[in-house]
Amino acid sequence: MDNVYSYIQELEERIKYIDDSRTLELIKQLIEERNCLAKIANFDSLTELNNRRVLGNIHACSALAMCDIDDFKEINDFYGHNIGDEVIRNVAQIIKSCVRDTDYVCRYGGDEFLLAFINCPSNVVSDRLEQIRKLVSQYLPIDDSNINITMSFGFIVSDSYEKLDDLVKKADKALYESKKRGKNQITSYSEINSFQNIKKIN
Ligand code: GH3
Ligand code: MG
Repeated sequence: MDNVYSYIQELEERIKYIDDSRTLELIKQLIEERNCLAKIANFDSLTELNNRRVLGNIHACSALAMCDIDDFKEINDFYGHNIGDEVIRNVAQIIKSCVRDTDYVCRYGGDEFLLAFINCPSNVVSDRLEQIRKLVSQYLPIDDSNINITMSFGFIVSDSYEKLDDLVKKADKALYESKKRGKNQITSYSEINSFQNIKKIN
């Protein structure tokens, strides 16, 4: 993908020197269509977030978080698949509203989301995750609902240029720890071994 991107960049540079207008027009059209296809390929149509292919664009991040809706199967069973879809869409919007445009949010799979924070101090990362956790726990899928939606989180602060795959694995391990400890909570990878976590249940 990186290679294709650099070909396109080189092509965009070189077309400045083409003087045949029809050739120029065709190449421009091709580039436009290619960019459009690239967008579709990176896009999750349910949530309008990027899908996990966007990870290829992240070269360094200061922290990475994995977030998963708790007991989502029950939500589907209780409310039906359509409301389940709406819950995923709304949770995606909540997440998006709590991070900066320069951070990456993607739907990693079913009810799981990945956040990559760019140039963000670790205390801000945990504040943002706590803000998401709280907003999700206050969200009711339908009026008069007595089922609260909750979400569990795991994150890792990256102080070096650790490989993204490794960050994902570690954040996932921290997420698993949050699930194991009762869900609706945030665990930092660095805290797993010291048996502490950030736990703020309303
Ligand atoms: P846990 O708290 O351990 O995460 O339990 P869970 O029930 O949420 O378990 P899990 O995350 O494994 O379940 C995810 C479920 O999400 C399974 C699948 O049926 C459902 N799912 C995946 N994609 C979609 C989707 O696009 N729409 C809907 N409505 N459901 C989906
Ligand atoms: Mg889940």
